Amino acid sequence: MNESKHLPFHLFFLLCFIGTSFLSAQPFSSRHFEIEKLDDGVWAAIAKIGGHAICNAGIIDLGEETLIFDPFMTPEAADDLKKAAMELTGHPVKYVVNSHYHNDHIGGNQVFENATLISTTRTRELIAQNQPDEIEYGKTDASKRLADINAANITSMSNQAMEEHEMWKGYYEAYVTSGPVLRVILPTLLVDHELSIMGSKQNVKCITLGTGHTESDLFLYLPEKKILFLGDLLFIKNHPWMKEGNTDHWIITLDSIKMMDSKMIVPGHGPVGSKSDIDVMENYFKQIFETALAYKNKGMSPEQDESLSSPASYYSWLLSMFYKYNVIYAYGLLH
Ligand SMILES: [Zn+2]
Repeated sequence: MNESKHLPFHLFFLLCFIGTSFLSAQPFSSRHFEIEKLDDGVWAAIAKIGGHAICNAGIIDLGEETLIFDPFMTPEAADDLKKAAMELTGHPVKYVVNSHYHNDHIGGNQVFENATLISTTRTRELIAQNQPDEIEYGKTDASKRLADINAANITSMSNQAMEEHEMWKGYYEAYVTSGPVLRVILPTLLVDHELSIMGSKQNVKCITLGTGHTESDLFLYLPEKKILFLGDLLFIKNHPWMKEGNTDHWIITLDSIKMMDSKMIVPGHGPVGSKSDIDVMENYFKQIFETALAYKNKGMSPEQDESLSSPASYYSWLLSMFYKYNVIYAYGLLH
């Protein structure tokens, strides 16, 4: 048997090997989120515009088991997250952290019922109080809102407006599709200061500094990797929602977080960033309160000003309708 006769077989196996390697190298794909590797054993799952994840999530390989941070808004998106976690880490999910009670961060809980769900005590109470109404809204009025969005004339929209439109469409679709199947699943491991989980591969800390974005917010810190998952304590290139927590304390919390040794920060909404993005959001808060003060000095309520909308400096930010709500909220605090 000469070498030339062997060549096709070598070539065949080589092509098979390349093909298999190529397929196994394909990252997990979901219409709801994009996986971004941050470090060894640490991934961010960044919500896609128009998908039903809505918030960002984290996947942490602890060594023998996996931790998920914020399991998205819908069981459908959470199912994909569970598959991605299994594919990336090879271990089952043992812990799921709920950063706060908002529906877009907890709807996927039921996909991880065999895991231990972690939140603060107050967040557990707020989920029990609010999530039944959120589920009811998904079964009833959300479909009317979705019909309005679908009926909107998109032909004259700018790219930015179109992106915003797609995002809200995904949000209300998420309500409508998950409403009939959602159940209230409450966390069972409660943290009121700090919880350390020591994995064989890496350690994580779940930390709460009290009120901020909501009455109670929990975030995740990976000390060896210097990575933070902040939930909605940080929005990047998205307007934050300020009306439910305490902005003064939110800023104190963010100042404390800036003192922590971090190289990467995953926000609740928007792309992966760093400490400088905290400065950007603190400046946003300042600008909101300055605008509210200007209305007070004019003797005019921002609620009555129909021309009040997000300024040009935040043109590229999503969730632009939150701007006016935030000014009205800050104006209310000045009285
Ligand atoms: Zn939130």
